Amino acid sequence: MWWTELKAAVGQRINMEGIVSSVAVFVRDRHLALPHVLVPDIRYIDWTELHRKGFRGVVFDKDNTITAPYSLTLWGPVSSSIDRCKSVFGCDMAVFSNSSGLYEYDHDGSKARKLEGKIGIKVIRHRVKKPAGTAEEIEKHFGCQASQLIMVGDRPFTDVVFGNRSGFLTILTEPLSLAEEPFIVRQVRKLEVYLVNRWFRRGLKPISHALIPDPTECVKDPPPL
Ligand SMILES: [Mg+2]
Repeated sequence: MWWTELKAAVGQRINMEGIVSSVAVFVRDRHLALPHVLVPDIRYIDWTELHRKGFRGVVFDKDNTITAPYSLTLWGPVSSSIDRCKSVFGCDMAVFSNSSGLYEYDHDGSKARKLEGKIGIKVIRHRVKKPAGTAEEIEKHFGCQASQLIMVGDRPFTDVVFGNRSGFLTILTEPLSLAEEPFIVRQVRKLEVYLVNRWFRRGLKPISHALIPDPTECVKDPPPL
């Protein structure tokens, strides 16, 4: 048991599959790291408009997208946006995280169940860490293709690469809190953000999405807190 815990602690900080994938993205698939939409946090997402455009469900990363890293409760300021999302998409929301629901670190699903109990959103169990793997488990859960789903996350080389590779609409948020994040993760995040901004400035475009030619239509000012 202690070995599983140790592996989980190290693995959640250093994602080797992620590093290998990042090098490949850097060398030949830079557009995969570019999100369709960039927002400060999920309060800026217009869920109603996305539903109107034909999207059938929303997949959230967990850490630093809807909770603080390693926390099991929603980050206070974004909980109203989660409620709005629920009112639009109903049960068609899920968490797809490298820290909860991954069989490697949560073999009996107890962490995922605990998170589901706290935030009221289904946590999809899966075998492969983002950005590797396919959207198979997610498509099975929602009963539709990934192109009808939205992937929301805070990491370009993890959440966005996974989402774009599988055909999701990808929305990148800024991290909610850097305080709990390990030093090495903060440095990697800085590098990712630098590269993405540089590629955007150089005119590189995200891959197009059939349901939404202009994804910026789905961004709005958030209601006051
Ligand atoms: Mg995250």
